[in-house]
Amino acid sequence: MDKLAINGGQPIRNAMLPYGQQWIDGDDISAVIATLESSFITQGPAIQKFEQAIADYVGAQYAVAFCNGTAALHGACFAAGISTGDEVITTPLTFLASSNAVLYQGGVPIFADIDENTYNISPNEVEKKITNKTKAIIAVDFTGQPVEIDRITSLARKHNLVVIQDAAHSLGAEYKGVKVGSTADMTMFSFHPVKHITTGEGGIITTDSKAYYDRLVLFRSHGMTKDDGIMTKNDGPWYYEMHELGYNYRMTDLQASLGVSQMSKLHDFIEKRRTIAMQYNEAFSGMEGIITPFQHADTNSSWHLYVLKFKLDRCSVGRRELFDALRAENIGVHVHYIPVYLQPYYQNLGYPSGLCPNAENYYDNAITLPLFPKMTDQDVRDVILAVKKVYAAYYF
Ligand SMILES: *Cc1c(COP(=O)(O)O)cnc(C)c1O
Repeated sequence: MDKLAINGGQPIRNAMLPYGQQWIDGDDISAVIATLESSFITQGPAIQKFEQAIADYVGAQYAVAFCNGTAALHGACFAAGISTGDEVITTPLTFLASSNAVLYQGGVPIFADIDENTYNISPNEVEKKITNKTKAIIAVDFTGQPVEIDRITSLARKHNLVVIQDAAHSLGAEYKGVKVGSTADMTMFSFHPVKHITTGEGGIITTDSKAYYDRLVLFRSHGMTKDDGIMTKNDGPWYYEMHELGYNYRMTDLQASLGVSQMSKLHDFIEKRRTIAMQYNEAFSGMEGIITPFQHADTNSSWHLYVLKFKLDRCSVGRRELFDALRAENIGVHVHYIPVYLQPYYQNLGYPSGLCPNAENYYDNAITLPLFPKMTDQDVRDVILAVKKVYAAYYF
């Protein structure tokens, strides 16, 4: 048996492989340079082009770009009318932004536990958490696998709730053959460099509702309007009115032009992610101590993350040691995510530990493997070899 790098053996690779990374080519760079040389570097024509490209791709009527995905979620909470004391049901197994956006509006995040197979929020748990204060549901497509949006939507209809889909992981994914982005009242995508396409920082909301669209556009830019149909009067060409307390959450044209260029590659990026995920599935499916990602039959994931769950009762060490051993082999493994309510800030708000047992169990046993389109065949082989090496050393 090969000696583990953590015990002084030869690592599987010489340089650290990150868990995620952007893919920027010469034509992406040219697109940004062209914008830099144009008259507008912000609030120019690239924004509408990018919004249109995303709306067309996901099959939504409208798209509103923001400076990042978190600002976009904040905008969605504003547009949904979340305000002081309103309850919003969401998953604990997500990045902080999903529930922080509720807090920004004075709302109260209510955490519903995950399904132990898909790791997505469980519609049954959502139903149990609905009260007369519930205003919305923020559902996250964890790892790129869409949530059971039809069950969530039917609960929402019954109780008059707004459905916001946090699709930061699931651009290009499908639920029952329909692309994510047209299946909720509002859907958020992020363009952080580890996501499917990047604008450096960036986010967007897609929606079919003109009313939400109008509120999102107001919110993104100081709550300001120059629309004669809305203004109370018009003093002249310089005149504008502020109708809501908005923010400066605008995306620049530099970012949007990168986004337009990246969109032409999205199809290939997703195909590459799916191919790597299938290679991992094949490599790990016969290993008794490892649980590969379960895929619901109604979904076609776009594979933002690939997570292995380890059955630690068959292992001589804990998750931390497995993680450290893989890092020592220069595999940039990660853990997504710490259940949000376990964060000190949320604990201070009074959320108890043990609130969502499935999410906590997941967190104690999971490791995210590297997965991004620019990975070479050798990179994929290195990850597989490293997992098998560490498994052979610690499993019995
Ligand atoms: C990336 C991410 C966000 C926030 O996106 P930013 O663009 O980084 O602000 C929100 N939710 C989830 C689940 C994410 O992964």
